[in-house]
Amino acid sequence: MELPRLHFFTFLFFNTVFVSLQSKEQVLLDMRSSGGELGWLTLPYENGWEIVQTVVNGSLFYTYSVCNIDSTEQDNWLRTTFIQRRPGTTRVSVELRFAVRDCNTFDGASVSCKETFNLFISEADADVGTNFRKGQFRKVATIAPDEVTRGRMLKVNTETRTVGSLSRKGFYLAFQDLGACVGILSVRLYYKTCPSTVQSLAVFPETVADALREVEGACVENAVSQATPRIYCSAEGEWVVPVGQCQCLPGYETTGDSCQACKPGYFKPSVSFELCQVCPDNTKPSAAGATQCQCEEGFFRSPSDPVTSACSAPPSAPRDLTSTTLSAEGRLQLSWSAPLVTGGRSDLSYSVLCEQCDRGSCVPCGEKIRFEPGPTDLQDTTVIVSELDSHLNYTFTLEVHSGVSQYSALRPTTAITTALDYTDPPKVTLIHLDDCSPTSLSLSWALSRRPPAHISHRYELMYRRKDGDGERDVTTYTVLILEKSSVHINDLTPDTTYMFRVQALGPEGSSGSYSTEYEFHTLPLGESQIQNPSTMVMGAVAGVAVILLVVVAVLLLRKRRLRSHRRGGPEDPYFSSDQLKPLKTYVDPHMYEDPNIAIQKFVTEIDHSAVNKLKVIGVGEFGEVFRGVMKTPGRGEVAVAIKTLKPGYSEKQRQDFLSEASIMGQFSHPNIIRLEGVVTKFKHAMIVTEYMENGALDIYLKDRDGEIPTYQLGGMLRGIAAGMKYLSDMNYVHRDLAARNVLVNSSLECKVSDFGLSRVLEDDAEGTYTTRGGKIPIRWTAPEAIAYRKFTSASDVWSFGIVMWEVMAFGERPYWDMSNHEVMKAINEAFRLPAPMDCPSAIYQLMLQCWQHDRSTRPRFSDIVNILDKLLQSPESLTAIADFDPRVSIRLPSTSGCDGTMFRSVPEWLDSIKMSQYNESFARAGVTSMEQVLALRHEDIRNIGVRLPGHMKRIAYSILGLKDECSPLSVFAV
Ligand code: AMP
Repeated sequence: MELPRLHFFTFLFFNTVFVSLQSKEQVLLDMRSSGGELGWLTLPYENGWEIVQTVVNGSLFYTYSVCNIDSTEQDNWLRTTFIQRRPGTTRVSVELRFAVRDCNTFDGASVSCKETFNLFISEADADVGTNFRKGQFRKVATIAPDEVTRGRMLKVNTETRTVGSLSRKGFYLAFQDLGACVGILSVRLYYKTCPSTVQSLAVFPETVADALREVEGACVENAVSQATPRIYCSAEGEWVVPVGQCQCLPGYETTGDSCQACKPGYFKPSVSFELCQVCPDNTKPSAAGATQCQCEEGFFRSPSDPVTSACSAPPSAPRDLTSTTLSAEGRLQLSWSAPLVTGGRSDLSYSVLCEQCDRGSCVPCGEKIRFEPGPTDLQDTTVIVSELDSHLNYTFTLEVHSGVSQYSALRPTTAITTALDYTDPPKVTLIHLDDCSPTSLSLSWALSRRPPAHISHRYELMYRRKDGDGERDVTTYTVLILEKSSVHINDLTPDTTYMFRVQALGPEGSSGSYSTEYEFHTLPLGESQIQNPSTMVMGAVAGVAVILLVVVAVLLLRKRRLRSHRRGGPEDPYFSSDQLKPLKTYVDPHMYEDPNIAIQKFVTEIDHSAVNKLKVIGVGEFGEVFRGVMKTPGRGEVAVAIKTLKPGYSEKQRQDFLSEASIMGQFSHPNIIRLEGVVTKFKHAMIVTEYMENGALDIYLKDRDGEIPTYQLGGMLRGIAAGMKYLSDMNYVHRDLAARNVLVNSSLECKVSDFGLSRVLEDDAEGTYTTRGGKIPIRWTAPEAIAYRKFTSASDVWSFGIVMWEVMAFGERPYWDMSNHEVMKAINEAFRLPAPMDCPSAIYQLMLQCWQHDRSTRPRFSDIVNILDKLLQSPESLTAIADFDPRVSIRLPSTSGCDGTMFRSVPEWLDSIKMSQYNESFARAGVTSMEQVLALRHEDIRNIGVRLPGHMKRIAYSILGLKDECSPLSVFAV
């Protein structure tokens, strides 16, 4: 029996596989690692279980075996020592590794040979020592091998059994053999735990794995949770179904399984899963663990601002508070700009306080005053104030509010003291006849609104006799300036209809619009008065007519039929048309007896300190013209031209000087020089206009001869025509339209200027005294205006034709050096200026139209603008060039010769075509005789140094002309 046993166990040890244990298993007993005598009890003491000692890899191992297969009635017990139960454990697992010999491998083995053994347990509260009693053990399981060992190869089986419901302090395990050949290689006794863990920032302790068990956790340091976090420990020792979670405290953020303080410069304001954020704008750098970042000096948070928001500064005061009187009665609008410093906030709102202040003491305006949309919490930068009294001054204090405005050291306010200020006078809505007699009429009129108490309006009343239909000989207008809204007019013709119009004048002389024209009839002689007797009495001049200015503009209208197809343009300024056009009609300042009234009416007064003269740029009739700057409230500093009145002027000269401003002040058009205003309340009167960087058009073109493309020249002409159309629509006749009186700005826009009334007579150097007296710029003036002073928009059209020629010829003098007398003669003989070099045919045709002798057949300015627009819209229409004859274009008809022999020298020839600047170049190139000139080819001219295309053409054409035969001046005639 010995041999097989030894043999068996020898194999057993050499084939054992060691398995490491998992940490989740808490081992109560491990036979293999005990390393010494286990001290287990065997029963019977001999011939039952035996202990076998084996050294493997230097370590001592013990195993138990039994193999009593040939004798029947075997009952061998092997009992462990007392094993303490760990508190909390009710179950233990028993892992057995064992081998069982196949009974068939034993020859003649008894039929009682077994291949199983039994596992028992017995609980006890104390170690009972060797006091072993079978009856105290209960069977746990019969242990059967999955594989029995047959040959030399040991088949090791592993079986794990869980023993539950343990309750006493400890227990014994026992193995019962009933006749098998079995070796127990190892017994491992353990219970399972769910290991200590951190889940969602909650710590859960190591927990014995029993049946599913709920475990409560605790938040890690610097974390909190709303409800106790929980998790389940399964019987297999696994954590399952966590419930609830912890979050880091303010100032801490989650880093792995812990909460770490925010780094300096970062903050976290609340219990949350969020990470720390960088401190917002305008805050001081924070220390570690900050829950918020404090505002920097001078910056604040409003109570409603979250700590995560940037700190903001209190707003500065609102700016540019202005008031505008609205046309509706008693209303004004306050407007302002947002403060310069908004402090980076968007919650700005404004409130307005209205006070009436008198010598330093202020009282609130009271509840009568209304604000739209309200006095407080204004989001927009305007408010409308109504129910104001027109005779009172109000102080409005505007305050800006923001979330942090209360932290401002100064109240961010701005104030304005203002009163209703109606810039446009009220409209005269109705003229009423109060009384009448054969020679007088009493009228009164109603206004669109009541004038404020402190403003006394004046009225301008115009009346005239109503003419019969058709022709009229004389039209006389009388203008009265009145201080009251009623008038009594005497010295009228009996039984006659009179036409009346009235307009109210503002305090500065500004005018509203005229009322419609009313007709009233004087009574026939001998008829009694039928009107209201009370007004009749009143009518006798009560406070009437303070200033009778008048003007009698007597315009002799020729007795001629008003042809229906007649040109509609204003033939005679102001009174020519039957239907007068108030407001849109130019008013001759000389209609006013006192020209100062015209100045007041049409011109803005500028404070002299706002104007700064910088450099003289020209000389006008009355004094120097300066370039300068003017300070304006809305536009900052603007460049201006300043015309001055030289010292020692007479009152008449002063008025003439300023009359240009009262004319210019009536115009507003992009192609008319804009008047900024006048300085009259300073000893040196000045007229301030917009500044035109490129100066007068004639000089501008001369300086750029041949350099400006035709298309651009066309655009300039179009601008001048548009300005002239505007003037003619206003019934204004310029009389001195010429390139020298057109100014050019930096954008090459052309603007018509020079509106002095005496200018044509005295100012213009081109003016020539005609036989009828008075100066006229002959070369620019239509024949009828020269002959009998018929200045009309049609004569302006003639002048425009000359300007067209000047422009296309780059500032060439019209009719060159012909005398005025020669010019007048040529024109009367139907000669016209020839086309300038390179002039598009269509443009030249338009010039010729402007120079029609019969003024009624000349185009109107509106036609000219349309034609130029069309030409500019299709530039190909400008490609056909008008015939150009150098002989007439470059030489005067009276002095032109038929070949080059008329020039004695090359310089003389160059001078005649205004190209003297090339004298030296020609000399240097050795071209010293006219024969050489006639032989020049295109490349030769270029090689001499003529590069500009315009100059090149001029010289080439001239040579061409010199070569040609002399021809009659046919092209010069129309
Ligand atoms: P006037 O008295 O209008 O003929 O002006 C005399 C000269 O002053 C003109 O020929 C221009 O050279 C110059 N000038 C007049 N007004 C202006 C202006 N608004 N801008 C630039 N230059 C001007």
